[in-house]
Amino acid sequence: MWNPVIGLEIHVQLNTKSKIFSPASTNFGSEQNTQACAIDLGMPGVLPKLNEEAVKMAIKFGLAIGAKISDESIFARKNYFYPDLPKGYQISQYEIPIVSGGSIDITVKDNIKKINITRAHLEEDAGKSIHDLFEQESAIDLNRAGTPLIEIVSEPEMHSADEAVQYLKSIHSLVRYLGISDGNMQEGSFRCDANISLMKKDSKVLGTRAEIKNINSFKFVENAINYEIKRQTNRLDNNEEIVQETRLYDPSKNETRSMRSKEEANDYRYFPDPDLLPVKIDSKLIDDIKNNMPELRKDKKERFLSKYGLSQYNADILVSDRELSEYYESVVNHDGIDKKIAANWIITEVLAYANKSNTQVKSFPVSPSDLSELLLNICSETISNKQGKDIFSRMWNNGEKANDIIKKEGLQQISNTSELNKTVDNVIKNNYKSVEEYQSGKEKLFGFFVGQVMKETGGKANPKIVNELLREKLKK
Ligand code: ADP
Ligand code: MG
Repeated sequence: MWNPVIGLEIHVQLNTKSKIFSPASTNFGSEQNTQACAIDLGMPGVLPKLNEEAVKMAIKFGLAIGAKISDESIFARKNYFYPDLPKGYQISQYEIPIVSGGSIDITVKDNIKKINITRAHLEEDAGKSIHDLFEQESAIDLNRAGTPLIEIVSEPEMHSADEAVQYLKSIHSLVRYLGISDGNMQEGSFRCDANISLMKKDSKVLGTRAEIKNINSFKFVENAINYEIKRQTNRLDNNEEIVQETRLYDPSKNETRSMRSKEEANDYRYFPDPDLLPVKIDSKLIDDIKNNMPELRKDKKERFLSKYGLSQYNADILVSDRELSEYYESVVNHDGIDKKIAANWIITEVLAYANKSNTQVKSFPVSPSDLSELLLNICSETISNKQGKDIFSRMWNNGEKANDIIKKEGLQQISNTSELNKTVDNVIKNNYKSVEEYQSGKEKLFGFFVGQVMKETGGKANPKIVNELLREKLKK
């Protein structure tokens, strides 16, 4: 009876070296409160100066989603007090954002759906309150103050937690492809607010929404939205009204709870920042950025399909992340590697180990050239696929190299035909009775001969070649 409606506001930290309005470093993980300068703190008399790199990154994003880039946009002060915002206002964009319109495609249950984007604007991040460091007190780390963000606001066009997660993943993948953010969700480089309401199935009027603030994992977004859909459904089914409010998601309890209602909502008193000139963007800058766009996911997928002959499924997984796609390409860049075998290996083995140990591509303990060393041995049938898996586990867990393991353990399969010829001849000579039986129709004895050759070679014979030789030699 109720149709969920969801719109997301995503905050993406841009990976510029310095802050959006100051020369302070944006490095993550430095000692607390060592990276906010007087400008980031809004001390009296300071003058912010816009970081051009942040503007270029916002334009790059806008172009990638087919949006309009404003030739002039304005920075405004959004006034509110919070302990992690000592200057009392955040510099953001209000009436004229740098990017407006555009869209991104998402795939839900094999269907492609277009999600429209309302706007994306530049702003500065605030500092960070830390509540779990001291028992009775909260701590403030201002290092993050002034880190450039783009806030990407979607239209309320998603209708399930799954759609919202797919949208979030598409944007996440895009900003990483564009190289404008590392998208690290644990470090807070990529986080979102989810707005959720319910609407009568045949209605066209949006219901009252709740906004869940600052969610920083795909799983939490999914859980928070599903929880909120249930909560609102219960209320509406009982004729209780939904209050417009801001809520927080608590992962440990898997529930959302009220933070502040609309009545308590801030009036931000936006006004143009008198210290910053309007941002003027000429068409030459836009053209430059357009001409230097990296290959994006859709194009890369097409290329993977045609150049490497991959299946849709495998190509989709490999291009889902830019670094993963680059890992694959460096692996198959070596002569003698079968492109499909490499794709299957990365998707089944490598990703299984990565998921289990929660390891990002750039920290894989097995480098692309390590993996290609292993795959070369598999593609040339020096070792079997099964042996390959055992070797890979040692490579991933102990940092051993494929060729070293194969040499040390004497694992080379015997694929040398003349060597196997002799063994096969011996087996036939020593089992002439069975040969007669086989030749007079007892075909299931074939396995017996294969087994004898395997026994003679200590299991190292290449089974494919053994099969071929036996078929040939056992003919009457
Ligand atoms: P604010 O800035 O006050 O949060 P906006 O109008 O900018 O409000 O909307 C923010 C987000 O909320 C957008 O992503 C929009 O799509 C979404 N949204 C607006 N109304 C609704 C609604 N009734 N239900 C679900 N999402 C909504
Ligand atoms: Mg909002």
